Amino acid sequence: MNTFNEFNIKKQLRKAVDGLGFKKPTPIQQASYATILAGSDFVGIAQTGTGKTIAYLLPVLQDLKFSEQPQPRVLILVPTRELVIQIVEQIEKLTPYLSVRVLGVYGGSNNIVGQKQALSEGVDVIVGTPRRLYDLALSNLLRLKFIKKLVIDEVDIMLDFGYKTQLKNIFELLPLKRQNILFSATMTSYVDELTDGFLINPVKKTISISGKPLDNISQECYSVPNFYTKANLVKLLLKDKTAFSKVLVFVGTKTHADALFELLGSESDVSVIHSGKEQNHRTRSIEKFADGTSNVLIATDVIARGIDIEKITAVISFNTPFYPENYIHRIGRTGRAKQKGRAVLFYTEKERGLKETIEGLMNYTIPLRKNPEGLEVSHQLTPEEKDNPVEEIKLSNKSSLSESGASFHEKSAKNSKVKSEKKSYKKTLKEKFKKPIRRGDKIQNMKKKRKK
Ligand code: AMP
Repeated sequence: MNTFNEFNIKKQLRKAVDGLGFKKPTPIQQASYATILAGSDFVGIAQTGTGKTIAYLLPVLQDLKFSEQPQPRVLILVPTRELVIQIVEQIEKLTPYLSVRVLGVYGGSNNIVGQKQALSEGVDVIVGTPRRLYDLALSNLLRLKFIKKLVIDEVDIMLDFGYKTQLKNIFELLPLKRQNILFSATMTSYVDELTDGFLINPVKKTISISGKPLDNISQECYSVPNFYTKANLVKLLLKDKTAFSKVLVFVGTKTHADALFELLGSESDVSVIHSGKEQNHRTRSIEKFADGTSNVLIATDVIARGIDIEKITAVISFNTPFYPENYIHRIGRTGRAKQKGRAVLFYTEKERGLKETIEGLMNYTIPLRKNPEGLEVSHQLTPEEKDNPVEEIKLSNKSSLSESGASFHEKSAKNSKVKSEKKSYKKTLKEKFKKPIRRGDKIQNMKKKRKK
C-alpha cells in the first residue's frame, strides 16, 4: 500500500489527511493500517518521527461510528502530559469533518473538576496518563466498560515511569472483549509481558532501523578526554549563535544531564529534561525550547523520544551512545522537514569503540574536527572517570537496551512482519552484535560490575 487511496478511508478522514499535506503513508502506517482495521491485537515497534500516532489513529477513527452514547469507546494511554496534548491535537486535526468527541486527561496542573465536567457531556475517545485515568475511573463519572479499543503508546517509557501497577489496575476495569494496540520504541521484556498476559495472538510489526543517515545532516566529531572538558567544549561551540541557535544536547544519564545543566546554566538559556524531573518542569522545559525562550535543551534519550520539536539547528551527542541506533535517532532530530542539520559527537578514548561501531553501522567515518582554539582541557574527573580511567567501553561489557527505529523519511527503512513469534529484542541484538545485551543504564551497569 503506497498511497492513502489504497486505505480506502472515509471521505471526511481523507479530506483531513489531504489538508495536513500528507502525500503517502509512512512505512509504519502502511504496515499497520489493514491489521488494526481488521481488529487484530497489534504490537507496533516504531519511534516518534515515524508517523506512528497516525498509524493507529487512522484505522481507529475509520472504524469509529457516530454515537450518542456518553461513555468512551476508545482509550489511549500514554506516559506523559505532553503526549496527551499532542495526541488530542492530532485527533482534532484528523476529525474536523467528523463528529468525534475527544478528551485529554492528565494530572498536575490540569483541573480534575473540568475533566469530570467534560466527561459528563459525553466522550468518544479518551486520551490520558494512567494515574489520572485510573482516578477518574474510580469515580463513577468515567466508566470503562464500553471500551472497544485500547491503545497504549510509548510502552517502554511507561515502564521507565513505573506505571506498571496503574496499567494492570486499569486493565481490570476494561471489558475482556476488546482490541489491544500497543506501540513501543523498543521491544522490552515488559512489552513481552503485556503481550503474553493481555493480548490475543497479536500481530507484531517492526520498523527496522536504517543505518543510512540523512544527506542533509552534516556530521562531525571531537575527541575529548573527559566530562568536564566536554562541558567546556559545549560552552565554546554554543558561542556560535548562528550555527547553534537551537540545540538539543543528548546526555547518557540523568545525573550527567543535571551536572551539565549546572555547568552551562549561567552561560545561556538552557533547559534540562529527563524522566526524574517533575511533570511541570518537563512541560516548561519543552515549551521554553519550542518557543525559543531557551536555545539549548539538555535531554536523555528516553525522555527526548516523546517530544517533537522542529527547526533544531544542531544536535550534540555529549556522550557517545552505547547503542548505535540511538545515534541515528539522535541526529534525526535535526535536519527535519528537509532543512539543513548539524550533528556533533563527542567521544573519549573509552568511547572510541562505540563510535567505531556507529560508523560501521552507517558505513561512514564521521569527520574528526580539531579541538577549537581556547578549549580549556580540564583535569577534573567525575567519580566514574576516577574509578575507571582507561578501560574502553565495549559492547560486551554493556548492559543497555536502547531504542531502535527509523524516521519515516529514511529511505531504506524496511518493514518486517513477525507473526506471534517470541523472539525478544534482546535476542535480536544478541544475534546482531554477537554480544550479550541487557536492559539498564550504561553507567549504572558499569558501577554494578565494579561492585561484583
Ligand atoms: P509521530 O511519529 O507520530 O510522532 O509523527 C511524526 C510527524 O510526522 C508528525 O508531525 C506527523 O504529523 C507527521 N506525519 C505523520 N504521518 C505522516 C505522513 N504520512 N506524511 C507526512 N508526515 C506525516
